Amino acid sequence: MAVPAYDPQNIFAKILRGEIPCSKVYEDDHVLAFNDIAPQAPTHILVIPKGAYTSYDDFAVNASDAEIIAYTRAIGKISAEAGVIENGYRLIANTRDHGRQDVPHLHVHIIGGKKLGLMLP
Ligand code: 5GP
Repeated sequence: MAVPAYDPQNIFAKILRGEIPCSKVYEDDHVLAFNDIAPQAPTHILVIPKGAYTSYDDFAVNASDAEIIAYTRAIGKISAEAGVIENGYRLIANTRDHGRQDVPHLHVHIIGGKKLGLMLP
């Protein structure tokens, strides 16, 4: 599968380099998480790998096992720390053009804190 070259000027790459600020909620060797600038619910956190991966498919194919384990575990830990586990929440990874991915650095949205609307195609 052809994967477009990673664009180091994307907004999340700039956040990772500290060139623009973010409201950080979690960080480890492989992962950074911060609040979405335009939250769609009381909890709206973006979780990104520190590696340069454009999208979920790129990450799944090219990331190391250590990166994948760290990312998967971090999403769970951050969800728990955000307090959304008991009532439920939604994980979203908008992917590429048809998936309406705006920022070409893999990110999973953790959205919760209220009863969410039904998802429509
Ligand atoms: P996508 O549509 O790519 O899945 O979602 C991109 C998300 O990034 C959107 O929810 C948008 O609000 C968020 N976002 C865009 N620019 C920034 C920014 O500079 N800082 C933060 N914290 N979030 C951003």
